[in-house]
Amino acid sequence: MFDIMDAARFETLHLAQDPQTGLKAIIAIHNTQLGPALGGCRFLPYANTQLAVQDAIRLAQGMSYKAALAGLDQGGGKAVIMRPPHINDRAALFEAFGRFIESLDGRYITAMDSGTSSVDMDCIAQATQHVTSTTQAGDPSPHTAMGVFAGIRATAYARLGSDDLEDLRVAIQGLGNVGYALAEQLHAAGAELLVSDLDLGKVELAIEQFGAHPVPNHEILSVPCDILAPCGVGSVFDELAVSRLRCSAVAGAANNQLASPDISDALQARGILYAPDYVINAGGLIYVALNHRGESLPSITAHLARISSRLTEIFAHAQADKRPPARVADALAERLLYP
Ligand code: NAD
Repeated sequence: MFDIMDAARFETLHLAQDPQTGLKAIIAIHNTQLGPALGGCRFLPYANTQLAVQDAIRLAQGMSYKAALAGLDQGGGKAVIMRPPHINDRAALFEAFGRFIESLDGRYITAMDSGTSSVDMDCIAQATQHVTSTTQAGDPSPHTAMGVFAGIRATAYARLGSDDLEDLRVAIQGLGNVGYALAEQLHAAGAELLVSDLDLGKVELAIEQFGAHPVPNHEILSVPCDILAPCGVGSVFDELAVSRLRCSAVAGAANNQLASPDISDALQARGILYAPDYVINAGGLIYVALNHRGESLPSITAHLARISSRLTEIFAHAQADKRPPARVADALAERLLYP
């Protein structure tokens, strides 16, 4: 385990259990150079503790990079609660998790993530104030979509020479909380939409509301378009998927889009501009971090606008150095995290 922590340049790993509620939780704090670690709490079944810890470590590291390039005074962390087969009292389990967070004296702030809801965050809030995305704080997804929309403009400008989205063909994989809100903004800006989702009801709605063209799920990544926006799941791009792409740029919300770091080289080799996922999708994190500090909505919106300038800076460096934007982003983040 220490080898894994070493490789990820990790600070601390905390484990706690509470037999009364069935809580088995891991809090991974990757880096607090810029401030307290902030990151979501997953509540999923894991085959064993090792896999849960590895997930927490991998995700926490990503949060450090995301917060650093979003210009937040926030470090990176993540929590994983191993979902038990039977839950007697979900509220009590999350309250116990809140006590675990409280014991860390504010070094880690939690948020909603896969398998958790704002109601779970309210239960955590019974035991600690180091929690965001409660029912009162609201859903970060619209802010993520807003950031991705601004990022698509920056990407279009860098790759196609104009940030005018009128008649631009944008393909969206996944019309969930972020993808659907993004589709709405792109439609309002005059873009032509090609969409796919496992849930055909969402596709039908997008056809009806935005005049979107439906694309079968297995074809969305290879459909001819200007910009491809993955907004469903991670790891969508491997060597094969990249070889089939017929877009000029990739700019979407999904986390960890590249199956491995060298996929950024494959995209670069094909002349496809890639907007690093953790830079373009930072809107939700910006919202939860600043909302937690009590900042006003106009101030949060102003901070969100920095996503497009950060991307423009990354694209300029990438072009000057002939390096993939994802590698430039990592280097910029590491400069901030390890001064
Ligand atoms: P969501 O669960 O609301 O939506 C995901 C949608 O993608 C669902 O409608 C699902 O049916 C669809 N989908 C899944 N696999 C698909 C596939 N293979 N083909 C087509 N459609 C598919 O999730 P969300 O909150 O909208 O987040 C979308 C992505 O953005 C995730 O990867 C998430 O990690 C990332 N992200 C979200 C936020 C946020 O604020 N919600 C912030 C940063 C990153």
